[in-house]
Amino acid sequence: MITITKPKPLEEIMPHLEKAKKVYLIGCGTCATICHTGGKSEVLDMKEKLEAAGKKVPGWMVIPTACDELTREALVENAKAVEEADAILVMTCAFGVQTVTMYSDKPVYPALNTLFVGKEETPGHFIEVCMQCGNCILATTVGICPLVRCAKSLLNGPCGGSVDGKCEVSPDTPCAWQLIYDRLKALGQLDKMEEIVPVRDWSTSSAGGPRRITLSD
Ligand code: SF4
Ligand code: SF4
Repeated sequence: MITITKPKPLEEIMPHLEKAKKVYLIGCGTCATICHTGGKSEVLDMKEKLEAAGKKVPGWMVIPTACDELTREALVENAKAVEEADAILVMTCAFGVQTVTMYSDKPVYPALNTLFVGKEETPGHFIEVCMQCGNCILATTVGICPLVRCAKSLLNGPCGGSVDGKCEVSPDTPCAWQLIYDRLKALGQLDKMEEIVPVRDWSTSSAGGPRRITLSD
């Protein structure tokens, strides 16, 4: 499972760097490298673009996994070049951006948009698999998430608009409820289609501030 990212347009990034003469660049060796948005070649490409725009790049690094504690160590190891910079441009998902922010007092800016948490279906094609709703229902939907895979996030069966097993919003997208139905049928559990899912408690979702959990031991 990886975090899927997409580059922000340079026109959106540059105004944030207006006052920064020197910019340090950070990429990520995991998700952003897989997405071709923040690996070594994209970081070097950004370096060229910034230099062409008159900025100096005192240093850059691709942290193996920018969202974990390695980031703190990497910032310490590269402190001299980071210190020289007026700003840090981070070519990782939002988790990486926030991790860099946590361990640096420099202005930190994102170069990517974080789209979703997903899987690589086929090389270069990513699909969202979980919106981290905090109340997983995969047990009743045979491992297929209707919250993300159904365009309407329907929990009690299909909307009636699918055609030939495809979602009515896009002929390229399988209808989530067709997938669920087919799998239930194959497992001999079609009776589960009759079960009514009660009105959902969304209090476990992301509304209402950051979610937190503390392990008991
Ligand atoms: S039901 Fe919630 S936790 Fe489970 S896969 Fe779907 S979004 Fe993720
Ligand atoms: S066609 Fe299927 S996937 Fe699309 S919105 Fe309707 S039930 Fe959901």
